[in-house]
Amino acid sequence: MTGRFAPSPSGRMHMGNLWSCLLAWLAARSVGGGMVLRLEDLDPDRCRQEYCDQIMRDLEWLGLDWDGAPVYQSQRTELYRQAFQKLEQQGLIYPCFCTRAERLAASAPHRSDGTAVYDGRCRSLSPEAREALSQTRRPAWRVQVPERSITFRDLLCGEYIEDLSRDCGDFILRRSDGIFAYQLAVVVDDADMGVTQVVRGSDLLSSTPRQIWLQDQLGLPHPEHGHLPLLLAPDGRRLAKRDRDLELGQLQTQYPAPELVGQLAYAACLIDRPEAVSPQELIPLFSWEKLPKRDLIWAL
Ligand code: GLU
Repeated sequence: MTGRFAPSPSGRMHMGNLWSCLLAWLAARSVGGGMVLRLEDLDPDRCRQEYCDQIMRDLEWLGLDWDGAPVYQSQRTELYRQAFQKLEQQGLIYPCFCTRAERLAASAPHRSDGTAVYDGRCRSLSPEAREALSQTRRPAWRVQVPERSITFRDLLCGEYIEDLSRDCGDFILRRSDGIFAYQLAVVVDDADMGVTQVVRGSDLLSSTPRQIWLQDQLGLPHPEHGHLPLLLAPDGRRLAKRDRDLELGQLQTQYPAPELVGQLAYAACLIDRPEAVSPQELIPLFSWEKLPKRDLIWAL
């Protein structure tokens, strides 16, 4: 069994990131599993090495460790290119010339996460039309999804079903600036790094059917999944990196690590009172059955 941390180094971690990291680590370590670290730094406009370094210091400060060297997605373009090519050879990839405004106009709302379902309008462009459009624009690259339902059993959320063409639509695997998309990179990396259990926030639940389908097309194994309830700000918003009051830099000046870990463990129903505790001490207390199933309002 191998779990993973997969933070995006686009800023300092906040409580929501710590929550996912702590529980992913406990899920792995409580069954004697390995834990790997992958820095999801594909977007050069948003990600910085200093954030990567800070994330590693913050994980260590909390008492969370990982096995082996950290993996940087920005150094693995060749692997993504090979997977992309494999899908291309299956005839599943096509160029999409829509601008962002056109993409939005060509979309219906997504059932589960509020994003848009692309109507596939660039799928049937003739070779001549593609040639003509490519004179003026660099395309993004989409993968053509089948009319098929994908079902999986989540360790926390139970059975989840999605009809790929109706609920998701053809999705982008490579941006027009050449950057490979999260959905492709995550599937390639989880398999390459031997990840067998994916524990992350339930904001990514609806990405999972896409990832499972990509795993099938690429002949890769399916890890098991546990999607955690989200920590919400007192006004019901999702915590985001811009909520600086819940950013670790701020929290560290107010609380020692065992107190923060205790707060999280209490919210996860692993301990009865919010008392100081180390991640190590929580290992024997972890079980999936104890974890809450609904999103939590977080007021520290
Ligand atoms: N890098 C993503 C994030 O920080 C997580 C991706 C994943 O766990 O699959 O939100």
